[in-house]
Amino acid sequence: MQTILTGVRVNEEPTLGNFLGAYTPMVNLSHEHAKTSNINFFVPDLHSFTTPIDHSKLYDQTIKGIKYYLAAGLDQNNPNLHVYRQSRVPAHSELAWILDCFTPFGEASRMTQFKEKGAEHPDAVTVGLFNYPILMAADILLYDAKYIPLGEDQFQHLELARNIATRMNNKFGEDLFTIPAPEKEQVKFMHLENGLRIRSLTEPTKKMSKSAENERSKILLCDDPKLAAKKIMSATTDSEGVIRFDMVNQPGISNLLVIESLLSNRDLQDVIADWSGQTSYGDLKHKVADSVMHFLSDFQERVNAISDADVEEILQKGEQYANEVANTKLRQVQKAVGLIK
Ligand code: AMP
Repeated sequence: MQTILTGVRVNEEPTLGNFLGAYTPMVNLSHEHAKTSNINFFVPDLHSFTTPIDHSKLYDQTIKGIKYYLAAGLDQNNPNLHVYRQSRVPAHSELAWILDCFTPFGEASRMTQFKEKGAEHPDAVTVGLFNYPILMAADILLYDAKYIPLGEDQFQHLELARNIATRMNNKFGEDLFTIPAPEKEQVKFMHLENGLRIRSLTEPTKKMSKSAENERSKILLCDDPKLAAKKIMSATTDSEGVIRFDMVNQPGISNLLVIESLLSNRDLQDVIADWSGQTSYGDLKHKVADSVMHFLSDFQERVNAISDADVEEILQKGEQYANEVANTKLRQVQKAVGLIK
């Protein structure tokens, strides 16, 4: 059986953009491949503090992050779904060290995310931030994962993992690591050809981002539904005065149409056909505000119905599985590099 692997960072409160752009597609993929693939769903908690965080919250955020995915529809009764925390599978850290020693410094130095994040946190550029793509390679290679649903900002790190695996396979034998599929194949697998981007409510030329400082720019999954409705009502639009789907000239209005289509589970073209040519932006905002409010109420109710004990039980099962698979691979690598016979 092939393995699909996805890791979700849980440090910051996720947005509606995360839900529609990452949670929903991932949950759909897990249903699509439920019978034919292992679905490894892990929380990369060791990656969580490559930049500064509030450590007193990390543990609870992890549990909550998993609840969010379960509430979004991950099927916990699927025997092929494995949910685990990276930190509970020590083989991740052990393999990362070995991979470090097969990664040229120059190659790791080319990672653009390190340069960008380093520039954002100039006082806190750590070796961990530099090294995390190699830990990520270990996360993937330990499980022979072929498909790794991830955001486009991670494609360069995926390429690095492919390079490390290819280099080690050339040296130690082709059956050491499964080479993850290249970017193009991943995009096809994820059905991401159209590149969904939910826009900021206040600056609709930008994406809705959980780290944006302006609270009105984003809908958080924990937002009070009524407050979220107000944010939609005050969303930035334009002065054209006619509703059209036009991401270039009317990004705010177009963003609302996209949100409405996704939350109401209707084809975007049908939603556009309903609203095109109408002149009341207020009517459209009321409709979207209502959809957002209902979505959040339902979602939060589902989250609250999942107990910490439910999550702990799922984790215990998943972590036992992950340790078995990861330790088998780690031993194979240790043997290849001459640490054990
Ligand atoms: P981030 O919040 O940047 O860590 O992204 C985590 C995942 O959520 C990535 O797979 C992104 O593609 C997805 N995502 C984040 N923001 C948006 C957005 N505004 N619209 C669609 N997808 C998003």
